[in-house]
Amino acid sequence: QVRTRFAPSPTGYLHVGGARTALFNYLFARKHGGTFVLRVEDTDHARNTEAARAAIFDGMHWLGLDWDEGEGHGGDYGPYNQSERTPIYDRWFEVLREKGRVYEDDGAWRFRFERKPITMTDLVCGEVTIDYTNLDNTPDMVVKRSDGSYVFHFVNVVDDLEMQITHVIRGEDHLMNTPKHLQLFEAFGATPPQYAHIPLILNPDGSKMSKRDEGAAVGDYPRQGFLSESVVNFLALLGWNPKTDEEVFTLAELVDRFSLENVNRSPARFDIEKCAWLNQQHLTRLSTEALTASATPFVENAGLPINSRFPAALTAVREKVRLLSEIPDALGFLVLDDITIDDEPLAKVRSHDTAKPLLSALAETFAGLDEWTAETAKHAIGDTAKAHGAKPGQLMFPTRVALSGKGGGPDLGDILAILGQEECVRRLHHFTN
Ligand code: GLU
Repeated sequence: QVRTRFAPSPTGYLHVGGARTALFNYLFARKHGGTFVLRVEDTDHARNTEAARAAIFDGMHWLGLDWDEGEGHGGDYGPYNQSERTPIYDRWFEVLREKGRVYEDDGAWRFRFERKPITMTDLVCGEVTIDYTNLDNTPDMVVKRSDGSYVFHFVNVVDDLEMQITHVIRGEDHLMNTPKHLQLFEAFGATPPQYAHIPLILNPDGSKMSKRDEGAAVGDYPRQGFLSESVVNFLALLGWNPKTDEEVFTLAELVDRFSLENVNRSPARFDIEKCAWLNQQHLTRLSTEALTASATPFVENAGLPINSRFPAALTAVREKVRLLSEIPDALGFLVLDDITIDDEPLAKVRSHDTAKPLLSALAETFAGLDEWTAETAKHAIGDTAKAHGAKPGQLMFPTRVALSGKGGGPDLGDILAILGQEECVRRLHHFTN
C-alpha cells in the first residue's frame, strides 16, 4: 500500500518547486491507488504564519491536488501538524536515549552516527554514498536543541516512520540529508521508505530558481489568467519526461502516465512561455460551459457586459488567446456598442483614398441584404468591391477595422455574424461619417 506525503514548511506562499513536489507525490499515490498525506512542517514558530498555511491549502485546492489525510481530512496518523506532535517526538527521542544513541553536549543532544559508509539507492538519482567513518567530516548531529525543540532531520524521520510513508518524493536539495535520515531509521530499528529526489528547477538564465523569482508564486497564476489544468501540466513537465511527442495532459492523464523512472536527473528549465502555450492548448480543449465559467470573471472585471453577443464572441476568440486575461481585450469590440479604433490600422485604412467610399457603399449593400449570415455578408463585400472596380481584399481590411477597431482578430465572417446586420451597418456609418 503506497503512502506518499507532501511536507511543506509554511514560511511563505506556495511556490512552483513546492507545488511540483506536491504534484509528483499526488500522481505517484493516485497512480498506485495509494494514500496522499499532507503534513505541515510548522516547527519553526518564528517563521511560520497562518497566511502561509492558508496559501498552501488554497494553492493545492486550486491545482486540484486533493489529499487523503491531513488538514480537513482527518486520518489515522495525526496530528498532521508537526507543532502538535511533540509527545510523539519525545517518545522516539527516549528510544534513542535508551539505546545509547544520543548524548548531551552543552545542553543540546547529539545523535551518534554509525561510523560506516551509508549507501542509498535513490529512485531518481541512483546510488549515493556518504562515508561516516571520518568523524571530522561527519560530526554527530544535534537532534534536540538546548531549548528542548527537535531539529528538522529528527522530526522528518519520526513522522515518515510513524505515518508509514513508503515513498519520499522531494526536491534534490534534500538528497544529501537522506543518509542522515537513513542513519536515524536504522537506529530506530525501522525500515526506511524509498526515496526519489526530483531535479532542481532553474530559471531561463540557468540560475537556481528561488521563491523570489518571477513566476514562483502559484497564487499569482489564477489572476494572470492561467487555468489550473495548464499549471498542473506545466509543473509535471518540470522534471518528468512523458516519453512521447505529446505534451498536453489533464491531471487524470498524468496520473495514468506518471512514473518515477521517467523523472529526469538533469535540472528542469522554468519557462513561463511554455506555460502560456500549454494554457492555450487547454483553453481550446475546454467545454463551452467550463470556458464560460473561467472567462466570465475576467470579462466582468474588465467592465464588459455579459450580453447576448458574449457566448458567440467567446467562441470566436477562444483559439486566439493564450491567457484568460487576454479575453476581454480580444472580444471587447464584439460585446460593446461603442468601440475605439486603434491608431495603426486606422492610419493604414486612411492611406487608401478608396477605402472610405467603398465602406459607404458597403453600408448600403449591407442594409439592403434580405438574409444575413457570415456567407451572405462576405459575398456582399466581394460584390461591392467588384462593383467599384476593386479587389475584395481591398475592402476586407477596412471592413475589419471599421467593425472591430483592430487590424487583427477573429475571422471576419465570425465578426459579421456575431454583430449582426444592424450593428454592422451602424458601425460602417459611424466610421465613414
Ligand atoms: N519541510 C521540508 C521542506 O519543505 C520537507 C522535506 C521533505 O519533503 O522531506 O523542504
